[in-house]
Amino acid sequence: MRKHAFVFLNAAIVIAAFIVFRAQAQERTEVVFPNIKGYKTLACDLHTHTVFSDGVVWPTVRVREAWRNGLDVLSITDHLEYLPHKDDVRPEFNRPYEIAKPEADNLHLMLIRGVEITRDEPHGHFNAIFLEDCNPINTPEQKDAVRLANEQGAFVFWNHPEWKRKDGKAWCGIQQEYHDLGWMHGLEVFNARSYYKNAHQWALDNDLTLMGTTDIHSPIDEAYDYARGEHRTMTLVFVEAETPEAVKEALFAKRTAVFANNTLVAREEWAAPLFEAAVKLQTTDISLKGKNAFFVPVHNHSSASYELEANGRVRGVSFPGALRLPAGKTVMMRLQGGGGTTSGQEKIVLPYRVKNILIAPDTYLEIAFELNVTFCE
Ligand SMILES: [Zn+2]
Ligand SMILES: [Zn+2]
Repeated sequence: MRKHAFVFLNAAIVIAAFIVFRAQAQERTEVVFPNIKGYKTLACDLHTHTVFSDGVVWPTVRVREAWRNGLDVLSITDHLEYLPHKDDVRPEFNRPYEIAKPEADNLHLMLIRGVEITRDEPHGHFNAIFLEDCNPINTPEQKDAVRLANEQGAFVFWNHPEWKRKDGKAWCGIQQEYHDLGWMHGLEVFNARSYYKNAHQWALDNDLTLMGTTDIHSPIDEAYDYARGEHRTMTLVFVEAETPEAVKEALFAKRTAVFANNTLVAREEWAAPLFEAAVKLQTTDISLKGKNAFFVPVHNHSSASYELEANGRVRGVSFPGALRLPAGKTVMMRLQGGGGTTSGQEKIVLPYRVKNILIAPDTYLEIAFELNVTFCE
């Protein structure tokens, strides 16, 4: 008997060890962007759904997905009004947060309490995050919901502004009223893979925070294929500290960049340092002899692959008209002298525009690589 008990105990230990091993076998694909201007860069998805509204996954699954996808901050924002699973899952608006929180703590992921206020056009959908209690926001009157969220100090943003209205007129009286009251603080320029060009302009014109979210309802792997190098839509937030209060402060201060479909959407004051801190020429002292080529290694330390297009010419030097800088890689930029009779030293600037960084609708970030060139005959 004793021997049997011993064998059983050993088997139990092996099974327990296996379970522990399995729990630790998840892999995280880091989101790599530099810290800029003294702020730390956090990757955030602040609009997701679970079975507590019309999503199909349990809240802890959202947390594990977020961790595997390299996020630092997650908000589960189930609908208050649209509850197709209510016969199977009791509607309780704080439960997704409460269920997800211990798993988020285990994985050192910051979890933000939130909801989606879901009303018909022209009102549209608004996310309220950093709530203390989601229940009071569930009101019959739509304006009361947005007002009460604001009274809790929530950060409120307009979701998928042009989802149902694509004629450029989705900004109606109600959005203007919320804006005038100071109740609307941001809007989504990217919802999942959809870019809203007019909404981008409205955010700039009205001084609103640029947001990008997945609004994920399915398991995340059905929407973004990480094995093929895809990434989920996210908002990069530039924070003073890794706390919910600091994330909230940064959102209200509009310190964000949206990363979606390998495109960055940000105000130039954040887009330029984000590019400049990630992309480095590994040498800036160039020697051009006659028409010989000189190769400059260019390293891109970020999760975005940048697509550059020459934005002018430089006398006496030819350089690539198009330059692709893959994420996390180094490429060689080929320079060539014109074979002229110039000799001596000169500072030159190679002008490019970055075709996948939008600082305004149809407006790309312009950058310049500075080089010290020694021309030899
Ligand atoms: Zn919505
Ligand atoms: Zn949603």
